[in-house]
Amino acid sequence: MMSGSQLGAYCLSEPQAGSDVAAIRTKATATEDGYALTGNKAWISHAGHADFYTTFARTSDDKGKGLSCFLVPSDADGLTFAEPEKKMGLHC
Ligand SMILES: Cc1cc2nc3c(=O)[nH]c(=O)nc-3n(C[C@H](O)[C@H](O)[C@H](O)COP(=O)(O)OP(=O)(O)OC[C@H]3O[C@@H](n4cnc5c(N)ncnc54)[C@H](O)[C@@H]3O)c2cc1C
Repeated sequence: MMSGSQLGAYCLSEPQAGSDVAAIRTKATATEDGYALTGNKAWISHAGHADFYTTFARTSDDKGKGLSCFLVPSDADGLTFAEPEKKMGLHC
């Protein structure tokens, strides 16, 4: 990433969780070979273009803890992208 050969994206926000990070609902469930993530992110810069997605997800339903960060490769099974949001002034 530092050499510029890889593009990353930071996936914190969700439709119901902006400033209120504790409201994140994306869930991470342990599997035999890692974790399975289920949920929706919103407003993610580089979405659909990044090589990997640093993604915040819950490993516990306790709002005060259990928020973890996962590195999700762009070719992960089930990863899909919606249409980009139309913004008023930011077009880069
Ligand atoms: C162009 C763009 C690119 C973005 N890219 C990314 C990205 O790459 N990755 C990502 O994860 N997110 C991204 N975001 C999302 C961004 O980080 C969120 O918009 C931000 O966290 C604010 O959340 P919100 O929009 O839900 O606003 P809200 O949290 O609903 O806040 C609305 C207003 O209320 C104020 N407010 C909220 N809580 C309080 C409080 N407790 N006390 C006083 N005032 C409060 C806020 O300051 C704000 O003015 C992007 C957003 C935009 C617009």
